[in-house]
Amino acid sequence: MKIEGIKLHRVRVPLHEPFRISNGVVDAKEAVVVEVRGGGLTGYGEASPMAGSFYSPETPESTWRALTCELVPALLGSGADALEDQVLIVDGYGGEPFARAGLENALWDLEARRQGAPLWRLLGGDGRPVPSGLAVGLYDTVEELLDRVRRFLPDGYRRVKIKITHGWDLAPLEAMRRAFPRLPLMVDANAAYGPDDLKLIRELDRFSLLMIEQPFAREALELSAEAQRGLRTPICADESAESLPALERIIELGSARIVNIKVQRVGGLAAARAMHHAAAAASLPCWVGTMPELGIASAHGLHLATLPNFTYPSDIEASARWYPDEIVRPAIQLLPDGCIALPSGPGIGYAQDFARFTVETVVF
Ligand SMILES: [Mg+2]
Repeated sequence: MKIEGIKLHRVRVPLHEPFRISNGVVDAKEAVVVEVRGGGLTGYGEASPMAGSFYSPETPESTWRALTCELVPALLGSGADALEDQVLIVDGYGGEPFARAGLENALWDLEARRQGAPLWRLLGGDGRPVPSGLAVGLYDTVEELLDRVRRFLPDGYRRVKIKITHGWDLAPLEAMRRAFPRLPLMVDANAAYGPDDLKLIRELDRFSLLMIEQPFAREALELSAEAQRGLRTPICADESAESLPALERIIELGSARIVNIKVQRVGGLAAARAMHHAAAAASLPCWVGTMPELGIASAHGLHLATLPNFTYPSDIEASARWYPDEIVRPAIQLLPDGCIALPSGPGIGYAQDFARFTVETVVF
């Protein structure tokens, strides 16, 4: 569809609980809402980098700059009006995957609205409810960890993910298994371990985990393959699965048996879908991860998560888990069975409600 205008809104949404990062305290989630207009319709996207730069070099500032100075002017200047051509222009920009995801996903939403179809239909999904998993962080004591899990489990989440790192691995897992012997449980190491830790990683087999997410550094694909050969538990690639070429290398080496696909990290729905297809062809099941995002990006992830090879619960949680208030209506809610049902209606299906969180708007 021919694009008639684009608006970018910087939003700042308060979090329930501030969290500490290496260079400060984060008490709100920052993102850019992308509004693309055409044919009397509006498509919505969300560019949602993490605060600070501890996860990746992209920040809310670099994302805003990439969108306002480069991506939006390039797309508007191109005159492209077919979705696939527009996606090529956005994806042709090197780097800044969060900015690309925000803009590209708004184009997908607009195209779905033009067709009067839910986004999942364009993507090749089936619109089924998406099972949701709970993710909890690192704690000072095992008791705090167990308290946190007990607090959220009654909401119905379909599995629990705990973070592990040096000095916080076997003890919390022993405690979790004593307290919840049959709970679907997984761990995420966020690349904390190295070649000296192979023995410890092998010990994780005895906890009957669904998977061990990203035990080693992003680029340590051979080490991960070596660990996987000695494990019954599947390794899940997260940070390592940053692009389709990276995933192809993971498949070739046998570095993982499960893939966490994050729409924001890989630069949008087109790349995420291509990675889903590549993983399916190699018989690697997938799930949709988050960092987490606000409601618009979560909605895009939920539609994607109804593609057939997303067989593990998603990290997309209820809005109320993180935010007292949301930028979409209805807020993202868990059904009693731990699934998130997609709203009906064209595009992402959620209504927008972000004006009170907007700190800056630029109109193109
Ligand atoms: Mg992870």
